[in-house]
Amino acid sequence: MKVTEVKKYIPQLDIKKSKAKCPKCRSNNLLILEKSIHYQEWEQIDGLIDHVEGYMNSGDVIGTWGTCKSCGHSWIFKSLQITGLFIE
Ligand SMILES: [Zn+2]
Repeated sequence: MKVTEVKKYIPQLDIKKSKAKCPKCRSNNLLILEKSIHYQEWEQIDGLIDHVEGYMNSGDVIGTWGTCKSCGHSWIFKSLQITGLFIE
């Protein structure tokens, strides 16, 4: 189902207009992955490890990747987060 069709059933869905295009063929039909680090913190004292914080806490975003649905080209966006692709 296309995003615009889903919007008919869920009108509160937040759909953003994007300026992103495939750098190879200029298509604007893309798959976009914004990746972040998930982590747990452990502390070792005298050889004993104790769980300190988090169970798969979401950490900093490490980058945004694109794959073109038209030509299959893959690349890393200059913008760290997907919000950098939005048209205000
Ligand atoms: Zn392309």
